[in-house]
Amino acid sequence: MKLILLGAPGAGKGTVAKMLTKLDGSVQISTGDILRGAVQAGTDLGKEAEGYMNRGDLVPDSLIMGIMEGRLQEDDCKNGFLLDGFPRTIPQAEALTELLTKLGISLDMVVNIDVPRDVIFDRLCTRRTCQNPECQAIYNVKSNPTKVEGICDKCGSPAIQRADETEEAIAHRLDTYNEKTAPLAGFYDEKGLLKTITGTSSDLVVDGIKKELGM
Ligand code: AMP
Repeated sequence: MKLILLGAPGAGKGTVAKMLTKLDGSVQISTGDILRGAVQAGTDLGKEAEGYMNRGDLVPDSLIMGIMEGRLQEDDCKNGFLLDGFPRTIPQAEALTELLTKLGISLDMVVNIDVPRDVIFDRLCTRRTCQNPECQAIYNVKSNPTKVEGICDKCGSPAIQRADETEEAIAHRLDTYNEKTAPLAGFYDEKGLLKTITGTSSDLVVDGIKKELGM
């Protein structure tokens, strides 16, 4: 499947994407994961992106398009992809449309995962993420804690609160989402690609997507 997952930070895009990869071998492409990996590895991309990310600001479109242009042409995308956290602005969506046309790829659907702001705020404040760039497993101190506090169950690396998951940075990320990313729903609705699924359960969101795709 070739999908875009839209939704605010904390709406469950990453969890849903990971569940969908198991259905048909499509790959999850998370620009946030790619950027965090670059920050940890200390690459030029990471050094450029880090300040924006820690403040909860978006990284410039040109950097993101540079990443995505290469990533979408890698071999593993041939079986399908789930775009998680990209596009995040209208210029990114326009550039993606152009890129997909150039590559001869058409999207199946754009899924907008709609979750109330108070649920999202609480989820992000209590979220923990594995620091290992190869793993980046997600936990929640209330609903899905690690077996040993602060240690990833899967790989044993520290599971930490991200620098952009302080209350202040979260509030700023949600405002940025409303201003810059929420308009993408209209953009894709006009193209007849949008399906909005309201719900806080990732299982139900995945069921809704499967139904839409006739799986
Ligand atoms: P995420 O893990 O998707 O919440 O992304 C974490 C941070 O990475 C965001 O707050 C942005 O600073 C940056 N980021 C991720 N994806 C994008 C994107 N498509 N455009 C701009 N910035 C991005």
